[in-house]
Amino acid sequence: MDNPVAGKIDAASGKEVMKKSPVRIFALVIGMIFLGELGIMRVLAFFPHLSPSAAAFLAGVLLACLVLPLWFFFSYRPMREKTEECNRERQEIARQNRFLHTVLDALPFPFYVIDANDYRLKIINRAAGANEAGDLTCHALSHKSATPCSGGEHPCPMLEVKKTGKPVTLEHIHYNQHGAQRVVEVHGYPIFDETGAVVQMIESSMDITQRRLAEDALRKSEASLQDFLDNANDLIQILDLKGRFLYVNRAWQLALGYNEAEIGSLTIHDILHKDFRESSLGLFSSISRISQVVGHELVFVAKNGKAIIVEGNITTQMEEGLPVAVRGIFRDITKRKLLEEQFLEQKSLTEKMIKFSAVPIFVLDKNHVVANWNKACEKMTGIKAQRIVGTSDHWRAFYPSKRDCLADLVLDGAHDSFPQFYETFDTSTFLHDGVRSEGWFDNVGGKKRYLVFDAVPIYNRTKELVAVIETLQDISERKKLEEELERLATTDALTGLCNRHRFNELLQQEVARARRYHAPLSLIMFDLDYFKNINDTYGHAVGDQVLQAVADVIRENVRTTDWVGRWGGEEFMVLCPEATEKDAVLTAEKLRGLVESHTFETVKTITVSCGVTRFKAHDSVDAFVSRADDGLYRAKDKGRNIVEIV
Ligand code: GH3
Ligand code: MG
Ligand code: MG
Repeated sequence: MDNPVAGKIDAASGKEVMKKSPVRIFALVIGMIFLGELGIMRVLAFFPHLSPSAAAFLAGVLLACLVLPLWFFFSYRPMREKTEECNRERQEIARQNRFLHTVLDALPFPFYVIDANDYRLKIINRAAGANEAGDLTCHALSHKSATPCSGGEHPCPMLEVKKTGKPVTLEHIHYNQHGAQRVVEVHGYPIFDETGAVVQMIESSMDITQRRLAEDALRKSEASLQDFLDNANDLIQILDLKGRFLYVNRAWQLALGYNEAEIGSLTIHDILHKDFRESSLGLFSSISRISQVVGHELVFVAKNGKAIIVEGNITTQMEEGLPVAVRGIFRDITKRKLLEEQFLEQKSLTEKMIKFSAVPIFVLDKNHVVANWNKACEKMTGIKAQRIVGTSDHWRAFYPSKRDCLADLVLDGAHDSFPQFYETFDTSTFLHDGVRSEGWFDNVGGKKRYLVFDAVPIYNRTKELVAVIETLQDISERKKLEEELERLATTDALTGLCNRHRFNELLQQEVARARRYHAPLSLIMFDLDYFKNINDTYGHAVGDQVLQAVADVIRENVRTTDWVGRWGGEEFMVLCPEATEKDAVLTAEKLRGLVESHTFETVKTITVSCGVTRFKAHDSVDAFVSRADDGLYRAKDKGRNIVEIV
C-alpha cells in the first residue's frame, strides 16, 4: 500500500529527488562555454597545427579531467549528508507508519481509508480485514476495493462524504451472512488535497446492535414505567428543589384538577392547605437531609378549593450524592378520614349510650378483660368502673369466689357448660346468638338480688368474635311478689304445708320420675282420729291449733327429700321418693307414735291412723292415692291409731 504522507520521497529508494533550478543550469552552461573557449585557446597556443575541432575535443577532454574531480570533490559530501538525512526521515516515516498501523489494528472496529476516485482501499485495519464478509459496512468489499452501496433507506456514507466534503455519521441496518440483523453506526471523514478536493475518505463503523437493543429495552421499560405511573391510583409528583412540579401523574391531575399548563406554573406552596403549609414546606425543604419520610399525612387543596387529605411517602432523588428532586407518592384518604371521623363519632355516641344507659351493662373483650362498665352497673354492683375496667375481676360483683360469668361462657363458646353454671338459661332470645339466664344472687352491691342477664356476642366484619356485652336487670321486687303469689297458691295457709293442688303436682312429678327411672316411691296418708269431737268440745280454734301442731310434728320428722301436704280437713299426706314400702311403714309408724306421745296444748292427746302403699309400675296417680286411702280406711276400721299397708 502507498503511504499517503510520503509524497516527496522516491518510492523505490527512499532518497529525496534533487531539484535543478534554471538559474543554476544557466550559470553552469555559461561557465562551461567560458572554460571551453579558454581551453580551446590554450590548446591552439600549444598545438597551433591542430584543427579547431580537434582543439575543441582536446580542450573538452582536458576540461573534463580538471572539472570532474573538482565537482566530485565539492558535491560528494553534501550529497552524502543529504542521503543520510533522507534515510533518517524515511525511517521516521516508516516508524510512524508502523505506529499508525499498530494503532489502527488495535481499534476494535473496522477502519478504512478509501480512495475517493476509484474506491480502492488504501488502508484497512485488522478489524476491517476480519470484516471482509461485510457485516459492518454497507459496501460490497473485494480484496482491494469497496463498491458504494446503492443507498436504499440510508445514503451510502462514502458517497455522502465525497458529495458533501463533510464528515457524516449514519446508521445502517445490515443482515450479516448468518441472516442476523445488525445495527451499524458508520462515521465517514474526508481527506482533501491541496486544491480542496476530496481525495480519500476515512470510514469507521461500529456494531451498535446490543446498544440499540439495550436502548430499546430501556425505552420500553421507561414507557411501561411511565404508563404505570400515569395509571396508578396513587397521586405521584416529582418536585425540583425549589418546589416546582417536574412531573405529576394522571391521578394527581384528576384529584387536584389542574391541567398541564397550570401545573407548569405551580409550586408545592400553591397546593398545600394553609393550616399545613408551614410544617409541610419545612418538611419538603428538609427532605434532602432526611432522604425519606414514610406515612406522612398532608392536606392538599384542589383547584376548586376542596381539601384532599393524603397520606404517603416522600423521598429525595439523589444524583452523584446530591439531591436533585423530591418525589412524593400519596394516597387520597379523604373518604377514609371522613369514615374514621364518622366512626369515632359513632363510637363516642355508642360509648355514651352505654355509659349513661339506665340498664346495667358491662362489656368483655375477647381476652375476658372488662372494656366497659357503665354507670348503672357501678350503681348496682357498688364497684366503680375505674376499679374494674382493664381487669378480669368482673366475677367479684356477683360471686363470692372466682368463676365464669355468662359473658365468659359466651366468649368461650362454652354452650355445653351453661347447665353446669346456671340452672336456667335460654338461648332463644331475640338477640342473635345471645344467651339469657336469671337467678338469685346472694350479694350484689350489698343486697340479695334476682337478676335477669343477657350475654350477647359481638362480631367484627370478618365474623370474628371480638367482645361480649352483658346486660343486667334487677327484678328482685317482682320476683319476690311472684314467689309470694306462688307460695300462696301452693301452700296451705293454716299449716304451711303444701296444699292439695301443689301436692297433686308433686304427685304427678314424682310418679313420672319413679316411672322413668324405676325408682321406689311410697305414700303415707294420715287422718286424725275423732277430730270432730275436739271441734265440738273445745271449739274450732283449738281444732286449728291441733291441726298446726300435728303438721309440725310430721314436717319436723320426715326426710328433707319427703314431701308433706294437707290433703283435706284433718287429712295429711307424706310422699316419700326413693323409699320402699318398708321404709314408708317405718316412717308412718314413727310419726304415729310421735303424735300419740305428743302433749297437745289443750286437748293433751290425740292419735292418727295411717294408710301406706308403694308405687307399682303402670299405676296411675289416682290408683296410687286410692290404695293409700284404702289403707287408711282399713286402719280406721281396725280401731284407729294404727298403720295399715295396702
Ligand atoms: P274419724 O276418727 O272417723 O276420722 O272421726 P272424725 O271425727 O275425725 O271424722 P269426721 O269426718 O266425722 O270429722 C272430721 C271433722 O274435722 C269435721 C270437721 O268439722 C273437722 N274439720 C275439718 N276441717 C277443719 C279445720 O280446718 N279446722 C277445724 N277446727 N276443724 C276441721
Ligand atoms: Mg278424722
Ligand atoms: Mg277425715
